[in-house]
Amino acid sequence: MSTPIPVIVVGALGKMGREVVKTVQQAPDTTLYAAVDRKQVGEDIGEALGLGAFEIPISGSLQEVCVAAAQEKHPVVMVDFTHPQAVYENVRMAIAYGVYAVVGTTGLSPEQIEDLAEFVDKAGMGAVIAPNFSIGMVLLQEAAIRASQYFDHVEIIELHHNQKADAPSGTALQTAQRLAELGKTFNLPQVQESEHLTGARGACAGADIRIHSVRLPGLIAHQEVIFGAPGQIYTLRHDTSDRQCYMPGVLLAIRKVTQLKRLIYGLEKLL
Ligand code: NAD
Repeated sequence: MSTPIPVIVVGALGKMGREVVKTVQQAPDTTLYAAVDRKQVGEDIGEALGLGAFEIPISGSLQEVCVAAAQEKHPVVMVDFTHPQAVYENVRMAIAYGVYAVVGTTGLSPEQIEDLAEFVDKAGMGAVIAPNFSIGMVLLQEAAIRASQYFDHVEIIELHHNQKADAPSGTALQTAQRLAELGKTFNLPQVQESEHLTGARGACAGADIRIHSVRLPGLIAHQEVIFGAPGQIYTLRHDTSDRQCYMPGVLLAIRKVTQLKRLIYGLEKLL
């Protein structure tokens, strides 16, 4: 059997990071190489997650971990689920040390993504950025693309827990972008609208597609794409009830990223 892929989990104590730690420890072809977080530095990651000792202390320095990873014979993969303000530097750091990057953190601007793509390209490395790692969401977006052949009016509602730092969600933006890329004109105005309260009609993403963001405790991650036409409404909805739904997609990206020589945006490109 080949050597398991060593994985650095950044944001290891977060809601997503802890799920990734468990997943890479359990999968037969991946192994936890290091756990990085700003909190509980020095504590054993297994103990911190209530899983028993892993003999891997939480590191507060991604750079130190990357320096060690650069000495490894086998390619090392970093998985980042941190914060919109941290992820850009984390990816640059990983790539600079020859560590492949799988990124789930959302909130990167289009310019930052372009910049990272160039950086990854120049380094001759691979990286995957996916605003949503669940297969169900990829299927929803594909159904939306198909529906948009027949519907000219569409709006998106995304609903998340109120700890989420960025709005709109990266997934909703990606859904809107994928529809906008079809080059079709959506939502031609039927009347002169006036917004009496700023934001009442949501935020306009590409191709005049509006996104409405809801933040409430009790929610995890949900998205509706609503198509309208005279006499009918067609609603596509995806609900996340457990963060485990992202793990098959994360594992797929870990397994594929070391074979890439560029940055890939979106899980659909790996399926
Ligand atoms: P969280 O707040 O629960 O966890 C973030 C963790 O990162 C925390 O433990 C925090 O201490 C740590 N952290 C922050 N900055 C850091 C830094 N500079 N270095 C090291 N550690 C750092 O957040 P979460 O719910 O796990 O979400 C994390 C990100 O993942 C968000 O951007 C969220 O939108 C995104 N997300 C993506 C997907 C997807 O499928 N791509 C799914 C869910 C969430």
